[in-house]
Amino acid sequence: MTRATKIVATLGPASSDPAVLEQLLIAGVDVVRLNFSHGKAQDHIDRANLVRAIADKVGKTVALMADLQGPKIRVGKFAEGKVMLVAGEAFVLDAQRTEPGDISAVGLDYKELPRDVRPGDTLLLNDGLIKLRVENVLGEQVHTRVVLGGELSNNKGINKAGGGLTAPALTAKDMEDIKTAMAFQCEYLAVSFPKNATDMEMARQLAYVAGEATRHKPAMIAKIERSEAIPQLEAILRASDGIMVARGDLAVEVGNAAVPALQKRMIRMAREMDKVAITATQMMESMILAPVPTRAEVSDVANAVLDGTDAVMLSAETAAGKYPVETVEQMHQIALEAERAEDISIETDFTNKKFGRIDQSIAMGALFTAHHLGCKAIIALTESGSTALWMSRHNVKVPIFGLTSQPASQRRMALYRNVRPMLMPKMSDRDAALAQAEKLLVERGVLKPGDTYAITCGEPMGYPGGTNMLKVCQVR
Ligand code: PGA
Ligand code: MN
Repeated sequence: MTRATKIVATLGPASSDPAVLEQLLIAGVDVVRLNFSHGKAQDHIDRANLVRAIADKVGKTVALMADLQGPKIRVGKFAEGKVMLVAGEAFVLDAQRTEPGDISAVGLDYKELPRDVRPGDTLLLNDGLIKLRVENVLGEQVHTRVVLGGELSNNKGINKAGGGLTAPALTAKDMEDIKTAMAFQCEYLAVSFPKNATDMEMARQLAYVAGEATRHKPAMIAKIERSEAIPQLEAILRASDGIMVARGDLAVEVGNAAVPALQKRMIRMAREMDKVAITATQMMESMILAPVPTRAEVSDVANAVLDGTDAVMLSAETAAGKYPVETVEQMHQIALEAERAEDISIETDFTNKKFGRIDQSIAMGALFTAHHLGCKAIIALTESGSTALWMSRHNVKVPIFGLTSQPASQRRMALYRNVRPMLMPKMSDRDAALAQAEKLLVERGVLKPGDTYAITCGEPMGYPGGTNMLKVCQVR
């Protein structure tokens, strides 16, 4: 049995060695995330090429996700590298300070902070480990009182409880990085800290312009990690191809306790709107240092699978951890077990579904038929991958095979839950294409004589959005 939920792994020092990368792909990584918060343009291009070469070598379909850094809302550096803040003491965040910080004050990478806060606001530093209450804003200085003390080191992030920092989602660096990501034709482009649909539309435009020569169009992922994004969720989803439940920053802004319910709501909304969802951050955090996860992490991954996420994501676990390959192996096992236990009722899942397109209705018909008939496989002959995407928005135990002649579509489908992408030569004769598809799955050992399967295609063949036919067949 193969896993339906996909695994996204972040590359970093712990996983950039070709031998480790190969093991990661074999262990089950479907999407590789290149984090543009670290490294130079050429590093990312080299890594992207390496991932594609190794994916070819091991015969796996792997998508690349370029993750933009977004605005750097951070403190500056300290003379000693860090300070120990004590609750009750005063501490100043000073946008004009040029000298290194000390126990009483520090400079700011984010110069707009004094205009974004007012007395009474709570600032959270270093992922919420340190809490400051704003007492006064004097010119370029934000005077605060330490509520929760602790170690604060160079360039740690700043969040404001409840949101409200005005930094734009796309920085000048992001705009350059979009060009780099388009140079290696990333399948997914993730935007950090979008506040609204406009941020996503702008990023998409920049990507399309950068990709004009090759006509490559990446799928856009909105990282939901700001308070302001929550009321805008529907509009952001409409402007994107998917979302990331970016629990790291999100938890700091909305409070830890609000995140699990938001995760469920976001995944449900994404699926209803035919978009993809990635669940991210701290999923297997303890495995950065330990060879086994905690019980709570096992439950977290399993519950994300049951929530219906397309993918579960690893960050530092694979980028900088001691056990990158073991982490993927364990995640794979947890997801498999959770899927096995999953209750499936396609009728209730269909209740609120609205669709008005011919290709989409064929996709839904194929899914319903294959589920109730107990087919061994659903095959979607698809140019863009959209038929496979629609099918994959509902849970069924029947695996969906997305067969396409477009390598970019094949890789994009690597993120879709329960979709196994495959490449098939472009054919204009329908019967020949149907026969070829069956032959491919028999050769792969998916189908054997006597098995039934459902297959969808378009007639005439080869037009994106042209799916208009469903056939249910039995292998002779
Ligand atoms: P990051 O985003 O890892 O780029 O910060 C994910 C998150 O905030 O959860
Ligand atoms: Mn983040």
